[in-house]
Amino acid sequence: MSDRDPNCIFCAIVAGEAPAEILDSDEHTVTMMDINPATRGHALVIPREHSEDLLAIGEDDLCRTAAAAQRIAKRMEGTLEPDGFNLINSCRAAAWQTVFHFHVHVIPRYEGDPLKLPWIPRGAEMGEIAAIAATIRAGGD
Ligand code: AMP
Ligand code: ZN
Repeated sequence: MSDRDPNCIFCAIVAGEAPAEILDSDEHTVTMMDINPATRGHALVIPREHSEDLLAIGEDDLCRTAAAAQRIAKRMEGTLEPDGFNLINSCRAAAWQTVFHFHVHVIPRYEGDPLKLPWIPRGAEMGEIAAIAATIRAGGD
């Protein structure tokens, strides 16, 4: 984690050097409108300090970002009156991350909106699930 990545658009927004429609900010986070909204009100919550992704961000900034996401969701609940929310974080390009400054998408959802679940739920053998669980547990911290 570093204070500022000179090539990062979100760092530039935090510094006030790039435009953004800011919704909320505090000492550690900034919340803004996404410029390519998935639904009406789609927002992004970012830590002020540059961290590349979920694996790089410190626990304190992660918690602050989650708290800010809840705060803006509550504000949207009373203003946009959505029917639900998705919080989405993508970590690394393989998981669709395109801006490498940690962010949480706060996506208000509306009955009948066009978003789709991005995976197809399917059954698996319980033995296979148990084996994968054992692999993850064996890794420790
Ligand atoms: P992700 O693909 O999960 O990394 O999300 C990056 C998001 O940032 C996308 O939804 C973009 O639309 C959004 N985005 C990129 N540049 C800007 C910007 N300058 N201001 C606001 N949102 C942006
Ligand atoms: Zn950054």
